[in-house]
Amino acid sequence: MMRAEVPVDFDVIIVGGGPAGLAFARSLDGCGLRLAVVERQPLTALAAPADDGREIALTQRSIGILKELAAWRHLNAADMAALREARVLNGGSPFALSFDAGGSDKEGLGKLVPNHRIRHSLFSAVEGQKGLTILAGSSVASLRTDRHYARLTLDDGRPVTGRLLVAADTRMSHVRDQLGIRAEMNRLGRSMMVVRVAHDGDHHGIATEWFDHGQTIALLPLRERCSSFVLTLPSAEMEALAAMEAGALGRAITRRCARRLGEMRVLDRAHVYPLTTTYACHFAATRAALIGDAAVGMHPVTAHGFNLGLLGQATLARLIRDAVERGGDIASASLLRRYEAAHRLATRPLYTATNLIVGLYTDERPAAWVARHMTLRAGARLPFVRRTVSRLLMQH
Ligand SMILES: Cc1cc2nc3c(=O)[nH]c(=O)nc-3n(C[C@H](O)[C@H](O)[C@H](O)COP(=O)(O)OP(=O)(O)OC[C@H]3O[C@@H](n4cnc5c(N)ncnc54)[C@H](O)[C@@H]3O)c2cc1C
Repeated sequence: MMRAEVPVDFDVIIVGGGPAGLAFARSLDGCGLRLAVVERQPLTALAAPADDGREIALTQRSIGILKELAAWRHLNAADMAALREARVLNGGSPFALSFDAGGSDKEGLGKLVPNHRIRHSLFSAVEGQKGLTILAGSSVASLRTDRHYARLTLDDGRPVTGRLLVAADTRMSHVRDQLGIRAEMNRLGRSMMVVRVAHDGDHHGIATEWFDHGQTIALLPLRERCSSFVLTLPSAEMEALAAMEAGALGRAITRRCARRLGEMRVLDRAHVYPLTTTYACHFAATRAALIGDAAVGMHPVTAHGFNLGLLGQATLARLIRDAVERGGDIASASLLRRYEAAHRLATRPLYTATNLIVGLYTDERPAAWVARHMTLRAGARLPFVRRTVSRLLMQH
């Protein structure tokens, strides 16, 4: 039973007001819990997040969750682009493996929405939420959890107590470290550049993932004749490219894309992300849980990170709501075990498969080239493989 006699400041303390943390706060709306979000950025940055260049490919399931959270209505049609089909190319081969939503599904694979617009929509959804306190401009100096409480000291010395601590503080989670939870961590030595480009050719709403010699390129369709250009290179090579002025960068991108969509012109600032994938060895500890990238930091190539983060926070919120209805403990060991088991099942196969794809498609040895060509051909000949992948793309 919940220890009602123990006074605490909050029922749930969420560290990290990113998309996963805010979605989780919103998922617990209306169940009478006192919530705190501890976020190191100031409130102004949460309310008007800066553009970070990322276009998030949201699956139909994620769109459904954002609608339930009343975040979707804060996005405009101009914020989103339809994702009708995805194609995978291997080197110079003209062969492409295509995935779509099937003839009957008019909704397509999902929508592309800029990450800062998603963050803004979630902030708008939680703004003024009853029982929610946002402790912006703060981070956690130290923490301790025991059978009864989570006790935090913020960096300004303020103590904060709660019944459940939820870490949503990104893939290099400091809270995860402070809880003593280890994580698999793969520093890939590669970086990903994202930049919006205009081009002469039509993208037809098709996303292209091109595993080329020495580079991986994704072209994500935005509004007419505009795309998000996503390039993965060894980090040392990326530095020179990122330092280029817009005109030179546009010409370099046109060459790298082998003029697939004609001349490319850079529309805004390029953003570079060093790539590290992470998977926490546990998603829970005494009176604590991990959500979002703090639990699973996916490689962006399969565009599942936030989609899985949304799914995980929904799973944990559902278990907590059930506990509240039954008058049970919102942070019991059995509840947290159930969350961990469900989220592991939802994420581990995709995490492993994504890392295998990345390994195979960035391996430059001749045997790997043959293997990837055969994999794509096999995928084309086996309709059930395509259907399964399409379903995965749409659901998670
Ligand atoms: C280039 C790129 C493309 C991507 N494309 C896709 C895609 O197409 N589809 C998809 O599903 N996912 C995609 N992702 C992944 C997606 O962006 C992440 O999964 C998602 O942002 C994770 O959200 P989060 O809230 O867990 O973490 P973050 O977005 O990292 O937010 C963490 C928050 O915690 C705060 N914080 C950190 N440390 C502390 C602390 N100690 N104290 C207080 N606050 C703290 C930070 O300020 C931040 O606000 C992409 C990622 C990249 C890099």
